[in-house]
Amino acid sequence: MRCPGSALYVYPRARHASPLQRQKTLDPLKRVEKEIKKCVKCGACRAHCPAFAAIQREPAVARGKVALAHHLAKGDVQLEDETYSIMSKCLLCGSCAEKCPNDVPTDEIVIAAREALARERGLTTFHKAVGRIIRNRKAMNMGGLAAAILGPIFFRKVPQTSGLRLRFPLPFLGGKRHVPQLAKKPFLSRHPEVIPGEPGKPRIVYFVGCMTNFVYTEIGEAALALFRHLGCTVIIPRDQQCCGLPGMSGGDMETVRELAERNLAAIEKHNPDYVMTACATCGGALHKFYPAVVGKRNPELHARLQALADKTVDAAVLLQKLGLNPEETGAGEAFSITYHDPCHLRTRNITKQPRELLRAAPGVELTEMEGADRCCGLGGTFNVYHYETSMNINAPKAAAIAKSGAEAVVTGCPGCMMQLADGLQQSGCKTRVMHTLEILARRIKRT
Ligand code: SF4
Ligand code: SF4
Repeated sequence: MRCPGSALYVYPRARHASPLQRQKTLDPLKRVEKEIKKCVKCGACRAHCPAFAAIQREPAVARGKVALAHHLAKGDVQLEDETYSIMSKCLLCGSCAEKCPNDVPTDEIVIAAREALARERGLTTFHKAVGRIIRNRKAMNMGGLAAAILGPIFFRKVPQTSGLRLRFPLPFLGGKRHVPQLAKKPFLSRHPEVIPGEPGKPRIVYFVGCMTNFVYTEIGEAALALFRHLGCTVIIPRDQQCCGLPGMSGGDMETVRELAERNLAAIEKHNPDYVMTACATCGGALHKFYPAVVGKRNPELHARLQALADKTVDAAVLLQKLGLNPEETGAGEAFSITYHDPCHLRTRNITKQPRELLRAAPGVELTEMEGADRCCGLGGTFNVYHYETSMNINAPKAAAIAKSGAEAVVTGCPGCMMQLADGLQQSGCKTRVMHTLEILARRIKRT
């Protein structure tokens, strides 16, 4: 079945390009040529690629995309609609790169290919709109407020999860989708920029991310409660922006570069000890994609982005490092949970830390589900234009959560939370979806 959102993934018509222009178009692919050549076509990535598991065709798997990128870079494959379609079928989850015996960074190669495709024919309608929105924080604030106010006209509440469901199908969204409710007031406008802590304790910049700012503000409140509990100074830069990953997924590297530089300036001036994220996707952007992709052509910018990446740390890892001991936080009522590994935490080896903190929380009983390390299927904007495939990837995850019998599925990424809630709602399962920090903060509040 054709996904309603796929209508948004249409590139402008091919333009006539001179040989010189064509060379410029292919520049991003030339820069990853060395990485492309590392692929020995062993096929080990087939076992780990969620897109391949759902689509079952070779072009969907990392090996197929790397081969296509190789021929594109050589110029013996044209930038045709089919090429765009193949390159769009990647969630940039990094699972293939994590397991590849030759360290082929397929996600970075796909980003380079999408940038080349966007240079050749321009951005898709969808990514043009995304770029305009994420570069404009004021417009995002206004849009968020309008959506929160007008939401009841288009959506009805789904009581058991406090989420929303469309009252009628909208173009590009379809009628089945379950979406979370937007916050009336963004997290970034709720607190002062600097919340002083105890002398001698770390100074932490909190990089909030759009999903926490506009949707799951409770994650932000939990983060604040936990790091203040540890005596840290928490700085929430007012001028922080979207991390830019929604633009990166469409090859809009101009937007990503602009946002990376703005975020860099917003964070650097505070000279923090740590840059903390409670969103796996934002963490992946700051920690991996900024230096590896954005800083590739500019050594001075690369050095600054690498310094930012070195200070960037996931909230659960930092809480553990700073000595949060949930056992000391007093009794908590019995609560059974299961844990979902976000791809952008798992591929950075962040799997033990959240589990250890959760297991130590009084009253919390953690049961592992089958395939906890499997992708939820969101893939950022992939979920918009390949919604059916995205939900096919999600279906075994929803079934595993239900089978675990847990009262809540807990994770470290607000994007995954939205996708998990959609899958659970559609499969009729009433399991709650929560962030790791929410569970921990509820315990410290009881002391
Ligand atoms: S990307 Fe890595 S795992 Fe996949 S075929 Fe190439 S070398 Fe093998
Ligand atoms: S990044 Fe993820 S979806 Fe894309 S090719 Fe690799 S494993 Fe498949």
